[in-house]
Amino acid sequence: MTLMMKAKEAAELVYIGITSQVEGWKPRGIQPCIATLLVEGDPASAYYAGAKRKLAGRLGIAFQLHAFPSDASEEELLERIRLLNADANVHGIMLELPLPKGISARTVENAISPAKDVDGVTPANKLAVVTGEDGLYPATPQACIRLLKHYGYSLSGKNVTLVGRGQTVGLPLFHMLQREQATVTVCHSRTPDIASHLRHAEIAFVAVGQPNLVSKEMMHEGLAVIDAGINEQADGRIIGDAATDIGDIAAAVSPVPGGVGTLTTAVLFENLMKALATQQGEVQPQ
Ligand code: NAP
Repeated sequence: MTLMMKAKEAAELVYIGITSQVEGWKPRGIQPCIATLLVEGDPASAYYAGAKRKLAGRLGIAFQLHAFPSDASEEELLERIRLLNADANVHGIMLELPLPKGISARTVENAISPAKDVDGVTPANKLAVVTGEDGLYPATPQACIRLLKHYGYSLSGKNVTLVGRGQTVGLPLFHMLQREQATVTVCHSRTPDIASHLRHAEIAFVAVGQPNLVSKEMMHEGLAVIDAGINEQADGRIIGDAATDIGDIAAAVSPVPGGVGTLTTAVLFENLMKALATQQGEVQPQ
């Protein structure tokens, strides 16, 4: 019987922790606040920003949406980030992607203060992921590991195959998995035979952005698969990178939707709480 690694319960546990921290800041007159920059024109980004607003409201977190028209300039975004960096009432800043042509996401992201970089996109936080120093790590790779552990898996000494080495998920996950003492094999677009690497794996993480890349034929009964892929279908449905029927064979599978993405949002707000604590001079355990 395949274990379906749904994220709802793990996410709720994170929310319980956040809610109690939000309460803890109240006597000091502090309300956690996240600011999101959104350049209009991409419906998916607008949807994700709206979902964060809703969740922030539920958690007692202030949410600022900084919306820009589709013809906004890079300098306008940079100027807003400078203001938000300097605003002591704003504790986290994030940028919804994609941005229109002509605006460099890298340039805009790099302008965010590392102390408020709840998405872990600035050079300082990317370096922290590599070195293991304290920092704000990107939410999705954290969510991948957290989800697996929630279902009782450990990573130490395990053979792990990671499919995808992208900047947002695969690359930071590679570093985090090594710190978890896993033996990690990384597959990418030039890997000729992904199945051969999955054959020896006990745990697989998939973060590519291609539906059905990982198929039932590649599975074995001892494999747990965490699927971080998000692929929007023509009919609006969201599916992952692994075919839905891998569950016929694999030991455990994370669903899409309802898996990594669900926990990612929770971890993002957890990063906000960590950022706030650090800004207030308090140390939170990693
Ligand atoms: P990315 O930067 O585009 O990287 C994609 C990776 O997949 C690259 O390493 C690429 O290899 C590899 N790849 C492409 N085609 C492949 C193939 N045929 N076989 C094996 N590997 C292949 O993507 P990303 O930003 O890391 O995101 C990865 C996925 O995670 C996307 O579906 C994205 O939507 C999703 N995502 C989910 C969340 C969430 O909250 N759940 C958050 C962020 C992203 P090369 O390095 O050789 O080019």
